[in-house]
Amino acid sequence: MTDIEIAQNAKLKKIGEIAESIGLTEDDFEPYGKYKAKVSLEVLKKNAEKKDGKLILMTAVTPTPPGEGKSTVTVGLTQALNKFGYKSIAALREPSLGPVFGMKGGAAGGGMSQVVPMEEINLHFTGDIHAISAAHNLISACIDNHIHFGNELDIDVNNITFKRVLDMNDRNLRSIVVGLGPKVNGVPRENSFQITVASEIMAIFCLADSITDLKERIGEIVFAYNRKGEMLKVKQLNIQGAVAALLKDAIKPNLVQTLENTPVFIHGGPFANIAHGCNSLLATKMALKLSDYVVTEAGFAADLGAEKFLDIKARLGNLEPNVIVIVATVRALKHHGGDKDLKSENIETLTKGLVNLEKHIESMQKYNLPVVVAINKFITDTDAEIQVIKDFCAKMDVEVANCEIWEKGGEGGKELVEKVMNAIEKNEKSDKKYTPLYDLNLSIQEKIEKIAKEIYGADGVNFAQKALNNIKKYVENGYDKLPICISKTQKSLSDNPNLLGRPTGFTITINEVRLSAGAGFLVAMAGEIIDMPGLPRKPAAELIDIDENGVISGLF
Ligand code: ADP
Repeated sequence: MTDIEIAQNAKLKKIGEIAESIGLTEDDFEPYGKYKAKVSLEVLKKNAEKKDGKLILMTAVTPTPPGEGKSTVTVGLTQALNKFGYKSIAALREPSLGPVFGMKGGAAGGGMSQVVPMEEINLHFTGDIHAISAAHNLISACIDNHIHFGNELDIDVNNITFKRVLDMNDRNLRSIVVGLGPKVNGVPRENSFQITVASEIMAIFCLADSITDLKERIGEIVFAYNRKGEMLKVKQLNIQGAVAALLKDAIKPNLVQTLENTPVFIHGGPFANIAHGCNSLLATKMALKLSDYVVTEAGFAADLGAEKFLDIKARLGNLEPNVIVIVATVRALKHHGGDKDLKSENIETLTKGLVNLEKHIESMQKYNLPVVVAINKFITDTDAEIQVIKDFCAKMDVEVANCEIWEKGGEGGKELVEKVMNAIEKNEKSDKKYTPLYDLNLSIQEKIEKIAKEIYGADGVNFAQKALNNIKKYVENGYDKLPICISKTQKSLSDNPNLLGRPTGFTITINEVRLSAGAGFLVAMAGEIIDMPGLPRKPAAELIDIDENGVISGLF
């Protein structure tokens, strides 16, 4: 059975029952149809004094293009925790329409470890991402309108950093001209679109801890420079209230369920390269108040997603993660060992590829947190291959578990639950506590160098002149104490997608540093990152269909 067929055959509970199971009353949530609900932010206020649950961060080795199953193992682990007697909620990102119709498919887990209703989650869900597009584009419209009506702020039309957004992979919108035609059509200028998940509004949405904070952060967005080269902020257009108003419902975390009827929050979904790649802070915080264990996922591999979760989100949100789970697959490690086939047993390439896992384990241990390796088993994996990974982890003195959660759901996660519990317990007895990798008081260059050397294994960093000029400007304007969000390929630990395994003897080049003043971080660009993806020659859109009864097929 395909993922969507499994999801369509699931016996879902009404969302009220799921809400009740985590202690919510009728006043705490608004159903969106039968199986989705928005949860009121009042729940956070009501539970302010309550102790937080334990936080489990899910990350992965450097993946092969289709993904290594972080979402699948996140969902599988939360199902397994609930099955074996531990109250758990998962907190995940919302899928963007770009990858759904492009190459990667949906993002609601897979096999027997999925979040449902799968089609609804993947197609519009509760409309949050559209609301974010509208909020973002309101700012764009007001910028052009301001220029049209006399440009009192003296906006430099050649130096507007705020683009337009759309939640679709559409390469033709990467570089466009707006305002063509008669004068009433506005001032002509070059412009471009990003995919909505790359919007700074999305990043802010995921880091804000209240509506007031959301509004203030929106006001802080630097959207352009004036002709004297000074920064201009959204609050100078006086529209931060209107932009936040468009997010009134979106800001409430969405509650859904797994195939095994356990609770899940799915809320927010920023890119993991030019943004921090984790679900909203509000959803994570709410889950921590409503459950003993929260499993949450960070995008891409540990060098990108987990690093940003730990150095940006956890730090800004005062979160205290308790354990990091690294998802490893036989196929990804074989890929790092130079395997081209990936389907047949190959101990040699697998053993060679283990260096990638080794590096991610070492990097995560720098945060003073215990690490557990979850082997996400594929049916083509052999026992001998699984044993190679287990032996390696034993040598590194790291807990490891074989997971059959894709095939068996929660039942297949028994070993992982045991190992995660061991790690949390052991850590509680020690005096080790999560510590970020770098101090915010280091210079911008030092912070970038620290990530490059300690997490990527680089020898050093080259800063292009443009990046140095950017940094100078941010220092002058007091933005040097912000955390760093490095935008880099997810395909390699280095900035070169072709370097597999654990590359050594390389340097990272930072071409440009961008300011996300509202979100509260600096984006250091290591290489060209496309923030408006294109569709592949044969997009997933060609496989997706709907019948007369409204039944959807072809989503994966
Ligand atoms: P990630 O979160 O790392 O991007 P996903 O959890 O979305 O990865 O999984 C990517 C795809 O791989 C999904 O289609 C999922 O069904 C499939 N998948 C994940 N784990 C397994 C497994 N153990 N066996 C077979 N397919 C799997």
